[in-house]
Amino acid sequence: MSTLISEPESSAREFARSHARPADHAGHTDDFRGASPSGHAVYADALVRHYNGNRAVDHVDLRIPAGEIYGFLGPNGAGKSTTVRMLCTLLAPTGGRALVAGYDVARQPGQVRLRIGVALQEAALDPRQTGYELLSLQGRLYGLSGKALARRLTELGELIDLGDALDRQIGTYSGGMQRRLDLAAALVHNPQVLFLDEPTTGLDPASRARAWSEIRRLNEQLGTTIFLTTQYLEEADELAHRVGVIDHGRIVAEGTPAELKRSVGTDVIVARVAGDARAARFRVEAVPGVLSVEAHGDELVIATADGAGAISPVAVALADSKMTVRDLTLRTPTLDDVFLELTGTHIERKSPEEDPS
Ligand code: ADP
Repeated sequence: MSTLISEPESSAREFARSHARPADHAGHTDDFRGASPSGHAVYADALVRHYNGNRAVDHVDLRIPAGEIYGFLGPNGAGKSTTVRMLCTLLAPTGGRALVAGYDVARQPGQVRLRIGVALQEAALDPRQTGYELLSLQGRLYGLSGKALARRLTELGELIDLGDALDRQIGTYSGGMQRRLDLAAALVHNPQVLFLDEPTTGLDPASRARAWSEIRRLNEQLGTTIFLTTQYLEEADELAHRVGVIDHGRIVAEGTPAELKRSVGTDVIVARVAGDARAARFRVEAVPGVLSVEAHGDELVIATADGAGAISPVAVALADSKMTVRDLTLRTPTLDDVFLELTGTHIERKSPEEDPS
């Protein structure tokens, strides 16, 4: 294991400070955008990390092509951050192997660091610095100066849209503004692969939507490969081209959000009726294509392979049962349904809309 890998875990800012770089690298764009010779921006083979004998990451394999947004979805404690820290060279793997932008994280950490940007959960920002000072410092650490630095700062200022706030002390920023500044700092050297560790945890819905559009723009306009950890289902669903679902250190499913949801196999029709829903149960069960019916109070939850095709016959069956239907909705499976089917538990929901507390 290389001694260049710092342990214990270090912050993204320390990471940049620890790494001076050749001046010709910053601002560089090429068509390669972080592909390894095998064509993968991130490649991991049986990656393992133990903490005191406990396996936080347990034989994780990753094959992420350049240009992809990969969502790494799992509940708290699943092993997301530990995986990211290993891929970013901030934590040594206990076993296995990983290549990022074509370089081995354990044997060539310097090469990896030149090509990646990292925004970890806790942005370790100095509240007395201005945003502009932080970005200038970061740019100089990556070898930019003079006009090239000024140009890059202008570009980044536009990207994160902080406007005049860049001249204010970071201590006056909202949580969302701090995240955006941290993201800009991670982008100073135009990285090929960007690691975002729970980029929107704790943000209000408006800031979250804004972060999503910035992430999308980075990927679409610059071709940046993005490895995004999240515990928010909608975030993975909205942003990721492909999602890896991790639980207890193991990847339990992987695919596009649509593929994963299809793997659950059913659409769900939910009917709310006036009165006891059990009275309609048998007629609804007899509808062709209906797989199962559960009745709870005034609600019937109907699983079917073809929701669009079954919804009208279900409505007819309810009418035949002399039921007054209050509402009838067709729901496709969510990534939470996928997680539930795979693990028997829900992914903890803590997004601002879902958890007003
Ligand atoms: P996630 O990012 O998905 O919430 P983590 O990678 O932080 O999960 O943690 C995975 C597991 O490793 C958890 O059981 C956590 O308690 C444990 N863990 C994480 N960091 C440490 C550490 N520094 N020392 C000991 N155990 C740790």
